[in-house]
Amino acid sequence: MLHDNLSINKEGHLCFAGLDTVLLAKKYGTPLFLIDEDRVRKNARTYINAMRKYFGGDSGPLLASKALCFSEMYRIAASEGMRTDIVSPGELYIAHKSGFPMGRAFFHGNNKTDEDIAYAIECGIGYFVADNREELEEINRVAAKKGIKQKIILRLSPGIDPHTHAKISTGKVDSKFGSAIETGQADEMVQLSLSLENIALDGFHCHIGSQIFECEPFCDAADIMLSYVAHVKESFGFEAKTLNLGGGFGVRYVEEDPYIDYAENIKKIASHVNAKCEALKINKPTVLMEPGRSIVADAGMTLYTVGTVKTITGYKTYVSIDGGMTDNPRYALYQSKYTFEIANKASEEKVLDCTVAGRCCESGDLLGEDVKLQNAERGDILATLVTGAYNYSMSSNYNKIPRPPVVMISGGVDRVAVRRETYADLARLDV
Ligand SMILES: *Cc1c(COP(=O)(O)O)cnc(C)c1O
Repeated sequence: MLHDNLSINKEGHLCFAGLDTVLLAKKYGTPLFLIDEDRVRKNARTYINAMRKYFGGDSGPLLASKALCFSEMYRIAASEGMRTDIVSPGELYIAHKSGFPMGRAFFHGNNKTDEDIAYAIECGIGYFVADNREELEEINRVAAKKGIKQKIILRLSPGIDPHTHAKISTGKVDSKFGSAIETGQADEMVQLSLSLENIALDGFHCHIGSQIFECEPFCDAADIMLSYVAHVKESFGFEAKTLNLGGGFGVRYVEEDPYIDYAENIKKIASHVNAKCEALKINKPTVLMEPGRSIVADAGMTLYTVGTVKTITGYKTYVSIDGGMTDNPRYALYQSKYTFEIANKASEEKVLDCTVAGRCCESGDLLGEDVKLQNAERGDILATLVTGAYNYSMSSNYNKIPRPPVVMISGGVDRVAVRRETYADLARLDV
């Protein structure tokens, strides 16, 4: 099995977090998101413990909310003592409302509006990950009115393309996010931050990409960022306290993907960072990372009911399910690969080559092509594995399809964390 929270019981049913998925589908209906809370916590602790051990001090992970966002996730992050990263006023609202300690929240985004900035400061946001000049000036204005000094870190682009392993000085510098080091824009942002009365610059941030399986790109990014820390110390007399290396560690979605030992990778990156700090004669900063996918992806599964199974003679077989791009748009968006199982036939051999199709009025509404599956029939339960990240959080009501509920499993006990949308919910804003 792809991950060790998956198994097959004596009825031949797929089990997730110790529970029979066929029974869960019966109990809650389909489509259905399952989240293994124990796995979320285990993944989080892997980061928390390894970062504390190898980076030292108050170093640790921020939960990247955008990967999976609802109130219970913030409560879990808070109870693990994690920080969080939020990217919109909507995420901010849910974090705040769920009681997350806002002093431990970091507010991202390349275009925070004046309203967003005022709202975040009102909620007592810990840090802005400041992206641009206009934002800094607005934060300073609102903070001055409140009579506070608002902490920020600056988002920079180190000019790294993680998927070629090379420093691409044009590619990643050309980004809507942050300020590039090599164009001198980062220096301008530092100078501005240091000159604004009601802003307290705390450090720097970078995020190089997603689904990265090696640690070299992170080490390369850390090199560039730490050299920049040394440059800023030398040129402006400011020494950064915080270095945020972003998110992006990869996750195993299909058999061909490698396993990643996150703790081992963190250890390697930390020894690289520690050596670099010594060489540059700068203080070791508090290092933050922002894992999203690698905390929640393998903690998730989606269950559907198979409807139509249609073979187009000479072409292929379409297995249609009662969800699709509305609960998982990732294949439609990026041709992301997933592993599928017929949950009630999990011990049978995969004999069917098929395309898994959703129910939207859209030819591109597919969950996978060239999929190997157990023989599928109407009424079977289809499971998509490793859907904890960017599925629920990217779900939509296209075609007025209600969003599935999220059922969390902890210690072998299931509970609803987000209820199923009703047809009445779909009409609630209509006047
Ligand atoms: C998306 C994102 C993350 C999380 O990325 P994962 O690949 O899910 O770990 C973290 N930080 C920033 C700035 C992001 O944009």
